[in-house]
Amino acid sequence: MRETWHAHCLHRLTGAELLSGAPFTDAVGHGTYPVDIHSAEGTVLRYLDGREEVIKPGGEKTWQRWRSEDDPAPAYYQIPYRCLVPRHAQNVLVAGRLLDADREAFGGVRVMVNCNQMGEAAGTAAALAVRHHQIVAAVNIAELQSTLLAGGSIFPKAAT
Ligand SMILES: Cc1cc2nc3c(=O)[nH]c(=O)nc-3n(C[C@H](O)[C@H](O)[C@H](O)COP(=O)(O)OP(=O)(O)OC[C@H]3O[C@@H](n4cnc5c(N)ncnc54)[C@H](O)[C@@H]3O)c2cc1C
Repeated sequence: MRETWHAHCLHRLTGAELLSGAPFTDAVGHGTYPVDIHSAEGTVLRYLDGREEVIKPGGEKTWQRWRSEDDPAPAYYQIPYRCLVPRHAQNVLVAGRLLDADREAFGGVRVMVNCNQMGEAAGTAAALAVRHHQIVAAVNIAELQSTLLAGGSIFPKAAT
């Protein structure tokens, strides 16, 4: 099963945000994996560059565009920290499959290269919350991002 439960968090990442590369000041992860949704009718992959690949159950592949070539295409999307912070949470964070995302956004963020970043961000945020005697929703985002950077995470320049 690709998708199960999601926590209700301070922000729900939407497919529109993901596919437009919406910038978030509390970004803790960056991804490029397409929206990849499987169903009984086959698999549809929507890429950030506007292409769409449809794979029928028998394996037949077709390509089309879901967005005009004239529209700007983001190089990556961002995952905000708020998608990991359950509403009213004092001392719990979610990461990976449990993050708050709609079905379309989850079709992209669910892959392991993104789950890894969420796990690192949640663990780092938990450590900062303990260090500063804060609830997880009050973690200082600038300190969280600089700690992730110091740990080797990659932040595109525009995101910091
Ligand atoms: C069929 C399939 C193919 C996929 N292919 C790819 C791929 O090619 N590349 C890619 O990047 N991603 C792929 N994914 C997506 C990716 O694997 C998952 O989204 C990702 O593993 C989710 O990570 P997670 O840590 O959030 O959850 P999980 O990997 O589901 O880990 C949760 C863990 O918690 C354990 N657990 C649950 N309840 C409890 C409990 N009460 N107590 C203790 N432990 C518990 C579970 O046993 C599990 O080990 C695929 C997913 C599926 C289903």
